Amino acid sequence: MIVAKFGGTSVADAAAIRRTGEIVRGRLGRAPVIVVSALAGTTNALLEAAEEASAGHLVSALERVEQLRERHLQTIVELLGNGAEADDLRQETSMMFDELAHLAEALSVLGFATPRSMDAVASMGERLSAPICAAAFSRMGIPSVVVDSRRVMITDDDFGRAAPQPAAIADACREYLAPIVASGQVPVVGGFVGATSAGITTTLGRGGSDYSAALFGAALDVDAIEIWTDVDGMLTADPRVVQGAQLIEHIRFDEAAELASFGAKVLHPSTIAPAVDRDIPVYVFNSMRPQAVGTRITCDAPPCTVRAIAGKRGVVVVRVGSPQMLGTPGALRAIFEVFDRNRISVDVVATSEVSVSLTVDDDAALGKAVDELRRFGEVSIERDRGIVALVGAGLGGSSPSMARALRAVGDERLHMVSLSSTGINLTLIVDDAKVHPVMRLLHQEFFGGAAV
Ligand code: ADP
Ligand code: ASP
Ligand code: MG
Repeated sequence: MIVAKFGGTSVADAAAIRRTGEIVRGRLGRAPVIVVSALAGTTNALLEAAEEASAGHLVSALERVEQLRERHLQTIVELLGNGAEADDLRQETSMMFDELAHLAEALSVLGFATPRSMDAVASMGERLSAPICAAAFSRMGIPSVVVDSRRVMITDDDFGRAAPQPAAIADACREYLAPIVASGQVPVVGGFVGATSAGITTTLGRGGSDYSAALFGAALDVDAIEIWTDVDGMLTADPRVVQGAQLIEHIRFDEAAELASFGAKVLHPSTIAPAVDRDIPVYVFNSMRPQAVGTRITCDAPPCTVRAIAGKRGVVVVRVGSPQMLGTPGALRAIFEVFDRNRISVDVVATSEVSVSLTVDDDAALGKAVDELRRFGEVSIERDRGIVALVGAGLGGSSPSMARALRAVGDERLHMVSLSSTGINLTLIVDDAKVHPVMRLLHQEFFGGAAV
């Protein structure tokens, strides 16, 4: 059995969905479970509509809803025609848009959106795309059955970034997905969306369909997890930032996880963990060029010092300094507990005896944490920072490579430097505006290609 996940661009319109159907056909011998994202751009449009509605701009929110309705209904017509067979799906789809319009009206009356109501809206994209893809595949002669992801992706109730519950997911996958596969059919499930055990809709956070695929893969102990997207695989840098980024044919789980965490959007940062637990290889393929080799992610890969470069903008540096910390046992624990309590995840840390510097993404939750941190000493906040990460399993053991990296960065101001404890990630904190130029400098140094 395999799990194959198709991202937004792979199901963007009728032509893309047909192309994806052909890829699924080619995998029928491997008993595939298919995970699909929303049609490209849908989740953004849904969230914008929710924001507009709750800010009192109901008319423009409803216009957005109608544009989405039009696009989805048009896609159904292109895939299935106008006949009776497509009627049910068109009606079902239209009813979901009625529900969405009601949600928008409710938000505009309330004047604010809760994380729970945002999830109700954001989930619509995958709840719409999965039945459309299943119907399209069936029309192509691929026996497909849509499964509501809320039956199988059981999560807690941390709306907006709900935590999956692996034991409940495994039970649900055995109950709802495995029998479909055993009967020779193809289950089609929306990614990103789940539900609490009480049935309330949740989402796993932006880009979460990759994570859904990995969780289903682990639950069903599949032979491979395939992530189908719009680039040839994992590349040596984000191709939108660095011209001449090159394909990585084989990369280690831990390297891929670091790259994902530090900005390589091609994988959701949590994707790798469920695969590692069961040692399931993950592949990244291009749905526009299915014959290309793609990237294989496994526990071992040919050794290298620098595998790739990633970057993340919009990072905040928090510095906590206090001479009293000197030699005080438990000081670091107490500081990290503040972040834990406020549910803020920390990316990069550097410490001295009297101070701690760390980076976070989540500016919104920071206010309360900062108040608590002041108990420990002086707190300073630097916004407008970014992270550039140089990732490779052999990096920590190669002082010349690290020296080369620092030389390549030249005179750019470094606000923090940190080598991960496993030595596979050298992170540099730079000015936000310098993230892309520094990525280009480092890419040129280690992989050649285009100059800055
Ligand atoms: P999908 O909708 O298929 O999930 P995403 O847009 O989430 O696709 O991820 C694919 C995109 O990730 C690529 O188009 C590319 O621009 C970006 N990306 C960033 N870093 C990398 C990288 N190191 N390798 C490949 N793609 C990357
Ligand atoms: N549709 C969701 C998003 O845009 C999830 C995904 O595509 O992975 O974030
Ligand atoms: Mg994605």
